[in-house]
Amino acid sequence: MRYLELAEVYEKLERTSKRLGKTKILSEFLKKISEKEIDHLLLLIQGRVFPAWDQRELGIAHKLIIKTLRLVTGKTEKQIYDVLKKTGDLGETTEQLVGKKTQVTLFSRKLTTQQVFDTLQKIASLEGTGTVEKKMQFISELLTSADQKEAKYIIRTIISDLRIGLGEGTFRDAIVWCFFGDELEIKYDEKENKVNFSENNREKYDEYNDKVQRAIDLTNDFVEVVNAARKGVKSLDNLSLKIGNPIKVMLYQKVKNIEDGFETVGKPCAIEQKYDGFRVELHKKGEEIKIFTRRLEDVSNQFPDVVKAVEENVKKDCVLDAEVLGFDKKTKKYLPFQSISQRIKRKYDIKEIIEKFPVEVNVFDVIYFENKSLLNQPFKERRAILEKNIKQVPLKFKLADQLITDNSQKAQEFYDKALKAGNEGIMMKNLEGIYKPGSRVGYGVKVKPTMETLEVVIVGAEWGSGKRGKWLSSFTIACIDENEEFVEIGKVGTGFKEKEGEEGVTFEQMTKLLKPLIIEESQNEVKVKPKIVIEVNFEEIQKSPTYASGYALRFPRLVKLREDRRAEDCARIDEIDNFYNQQRGRGK
Ligand code: AMP
Repeated sequence: MRYLELAEVYEKLERTSKRLGKTKILSEFLKKISEKEIDHLLLLIQGRVFPAWDQRELGIAHKLIIKTLRLVTGKTEKQIYDVLKKTGDLGETTEQLVGKKTQVTLFSRKLTTQQVFDTLQKIASLEGTGTVEKKMQFISELLTSADQKEAKYIIRTIISDLRIGLGEGTFRDAIVWCFFGDELEIKYDEKENKVNFSENNREKYDEYNDKVQRAIDLTNDFVEVVNAARKGVKSLDNLSLKIGNPIKVMLYQKVKNIEDGFETVGKPCAIEQKYDGFRVELHKKGEEIKIFTRRLEDVSNQFPDVVKAVEENVKKDCVLDAEVLGFDKKTKKYLPFQSISQRIKRKYDIKEIIEKFPVEVNVFDVIYFENKSLLNQPFKERRAILEKNIKQVPLKFKLADQLITDNSQKAQEFYDKALKAGNEGIMMKNLEGIYKPGSRVGYGVKVKPTMETLEVVIVGAEWGSGKRGKWLSSFTIACIDENEEFVEIGKVGTGFKEKEGEEGVTFEQMTKLLKPLIIEESQNEVKVKPKIVIEVNFEEIQKSPTYASGYALRFPRLVKLREDRRAEDCARIDEIDNFYNQQRGRGK
């Protein structure tokens, strides 16, 4: 496909803010994709060069793009920054500048999507001396062959900020519209922004939607899902989980207390400690063992100690759901997630860091065992399989502590014990519940003694003043609206620590995390790529015209950095609506 054609699709998607409109555009695009081109096109349309679980990155800083733009357009740095100030977007800046370039002729060749994709992948594989120059050279080559519109989206892809607002929900709907649209007689009325289909088909539409969603949750691979949908519903149903490919984990609802927990999951239920570590999915297929985070990134190389623990303590092929927990070497007490989070990203000196930050694996579920998916097996049977097949070694590899009870007092004692041991709270699980990947269905709930918290993504910040002058110190936070856009919901500047060494997240640490993500800078404010997710608590949610979400958090305060969350996982506007309405229900 010509890259220009793709750029036009991006443009259309960017221009419509309506989710249904986007669904229509995407479904038409899907129709056009051949099986030969699907692999790279489905990544590019998501603004990706690698699938979610691949840890490779392009590693191109904002500054390098500016330098490349100087080279390609012959403009001075000041001229480039002047445009950037006006547009607030490197993509648009590039679009304007290449249009006016003085050095190189435009349209020296016609770019294809495959060429752009291959070049971007090549950039990620560069290593050693001269890497920066080579990266610049590759980007320059792309830009000199690109027309204005193409250049805009190439740059946006490079900085992973495509700004076309495509979420997974839109993808799912678009797959249904594209491959089952005729059968369901789906008609999109653009003027009214409504989907029309005969009442007879509504149930079927929901059914197909569920089938596509199931396929996405199981495979996490749009290519597989689209290829199956192309062949028909049966092929979709036949998709199953594959050992070695990450599958979405099941999520848990939050309840206020033990009584509400019993109400949701039934009596008796399984009660487990809620360990404050990070979630991993462990895949064992013969000798091969892989570890994925809940963001589905492959972190096997970072955790050879966990790989070894699986090797030694599990003999059969399986997929396990577990929490990895750090503990203090001397006292053997569990440590909060923050203290071991650095292990997730660590690429070097792994041996040393294993020594310094040892971990214990607490297995709490099994999704696949000996060539058989256990997704539809009741939890109590899955747990029995774990008990029978896992060798437990304290401080290395064990099953989550569990109590089965229908007694509130016993549950309360277990809860108190969990908190005393430094855990976050408890999980209460329905003994008959199946495993539903990617969903918060209520087969399990969490109980923890905190104020309401929300996970939000940082989209901007302000440089501090006085002793905080070197640091970003007030952070603009956002949630996701119904069009899959990040919309602001407040600013948070409390809960951070001043000095390195104090327990918690420091301003310096935040500054280090956010600096490479800066996409726009003016006076003392910056805008950043929405990447860093934090959990905040707050006193109240108010309606507010100040922020694009229409709401403002009152007195938000940092609880913790959520490095285990992707920006797409942060709070959605309907969650905020709910919170707001619940407050009103309580008389606020
Ligand atoms: P939250 O991160 O607050 O949504 O709580 C859910 C998370 O708790 C899961 O994603 C796991 O990472 C973690 N967790 C800790 N212990 C357990 C357990 N026994 N069962 C399930 N999840 C657990």
